[in-house]
Amino acid sequence: MLAVGIDIGGTSMKIGFVNEKGEILHRFRLGVNHEDGQVKMVKELGELVNQEIEEQGYKASDFVGIGVGCPGCINSETGRCDFSGNLNWHDLDVVGLLNSITGLDTRIANDASAAMLGEAMFGAGKEYKNLVLLTLGTGVGGGVYINGRLYEGNEGKGGELGHMIIRMHGRQCTCGSHGCFEAYASASALIADTKKAMKKHRDSKLWDYVHGNIDDVNGATAFEVAKLGDPVAEEVVKNYSYYLSIGVLNYCNIFRPDAVILGGGISGQREYLTRPIEERLAARHYGFPMSPKVRVFVSELGNDAGILGAASLAFEKVKK
Ligand SMILES: [Zn+2]
Repeated sequence: MLAVGIDIGGTSMKIGFVNEKGEILHRFRLGVNHEDGQVKMVKELGELVNQEIEEQGYKASDFVGIGVGCPGCINSETGRCDFSGNLNWHDLDVVGLLNSITGLDTRIANDASAAMLGEAMFGAGKEYKNLVLLTLGTGVGGGVYINGRLYEGNEGKGGELGHMIIRMHGRQCTCGSHGCFEAYASASALIADTKKAMKKHRDSKLWDYVHGNIDDVNGATAFEVAKLGDPVAEEVVKNYSYYLSIGVLNYCNIFRPDAVILGGGISGQREYLTRPIEERLAARHYGFPMSPKVRVFVSELGNDAGILGAASLAFEKVKK
């Protein structure tokens, strides 16, 4: 059997026909035209899925269903996108629309929850039953996998790990709160910290790395320049790793997962990202002595994490 995996982003929707081994047999995409109304966007998506099924020589009965990973506030019980800032969607019945157009069972979840299930089914978490996933991007997305199932919480809105407060009266967060993990551990936070350090230290190699253009700073800049031994970049990375590991330590104490998986662009730093976290976890005994070791991995699914995560939603039967 196959599943249709739909990874919805702010600029395009990536779609794949995925088999149970996690192989993407066919892929296509649809640009997001913000001029279109929200209902029209989803109708076009459903019609495109129908068209591709036919053109590729498949039948609807070859598919277990459609899985959709969507950014924003998703109610996975009603199948509606309550709100998505990136897409300008409000109270949109995504599941109802796709189901009526394609006739396929459809399931939707927040994109980070979908990525969590994808890693558990096809990626770095395959051998484990209890996992936590953090995607380090513009914000920090979170996913939780407990006893071999995706944990969704009330209305499917659980797993907002980015908004755990790790510093009282701390930095302003996009959610309106102060001191959230996301305000310290997202790629956006790292980029802001890197730029701040550059403005303070005009002699730092960080400036050479971006050829004097501070707008070229990205989530990799501080890591790459720290590898060259620049003390300013090293300090930025040390500070970032400190907050990231505080958050991970808290999740380990709450969930005691078998492993924590890190995704998003920064996860390309691999052991430079995971090693300081593992060292802090070990030094703190995960909060308690004699605790089991929690492994820290980076995502294995890379650019396909979105499609595979979405498809995994369709493969995992929902327990009512
Ligand atoms: Zn927040």
